[in-house]
Amino acid sequence: MSEKLILIVEDEPAIRQMIAFALQRSGFEVREALDAHQAREALANRRPDLILIDWMLPDTSGLELTRSVKRDRHTRELPIIMLTARAEEADKVTGLDSGADDYLTKPFSPRELIARIHAVLRRSGAAALDHIVEFDALKLDQQGQRITVGGQTVPLGPTEYRMLEFFMTHPERVFSRDQLLDRLWGGNVYVEERTIDVHVRRLRKSLEKFGVERFVQTVRGSGYRFSAKVD
Ligand code: CA
Repeated sequence: MSEKLILIVEDEPAIRQMIAFALQRSGFEVREALDAHQAREALANRRPDLILIDWMLPDTSGLELTRSVKRDRHTRELPIIMLTARAEEADKVTGLDSGADDYLTKPFSPRELIARIHAVLRRSGAAALDHIVEFDALKLDQQGQRITVGGQTVPLGPTEYRMLEFFMTHPERVFSRDQLLDRLWGGNVYVEERTIDVHVRRLRKSLEKFGVERFVQTVRGSGYRFSAKVD
């Protein structure tokens, strides 16, 4: 497998070099851009697997760059992590609203950054497969981000959709709550294991209306499993 390419868009040399060094040590290939202009050149040159964008850039703001990357149909699938010195909750929301996939407040440790990058890449990798997966009448359309049963769309919240998408693309395997947290929330420390049970309950309730809740099975003492076999 080839190395993942990360584009770093950051004007402060010390931070840019620290990030580049940490990424290279973790086996990533790195391109550096000092501003939005250079970032666009780098994007046109070779498509990265992920972009790190600093909020405060000398030309266009990181926020505006993020929006423009997410608006362009050639680049909108590219995962973005925003880097910022701002720690305000409102700024975080604005950052994520702009289309960023995650958000990291300075100062952060290289280890934390690498963990976030892996989590975002994992999530976007699963979403980029564009598969149709079917179990009996239950059908997952990853491109359309829809679950249908016999052609009828099952209304699901975003988390329930993500959960079912994960289950359907990893069938017949038992996942612990801890593993599900890691795969679905990317190791976000603020989500409790109990949250998994709440979402599984909601997911089952939605599936019940279509008579297909049997696929989502509880494995006592272990966790959950999506299975097409009757338990
Ligand atoms: Ca900056």
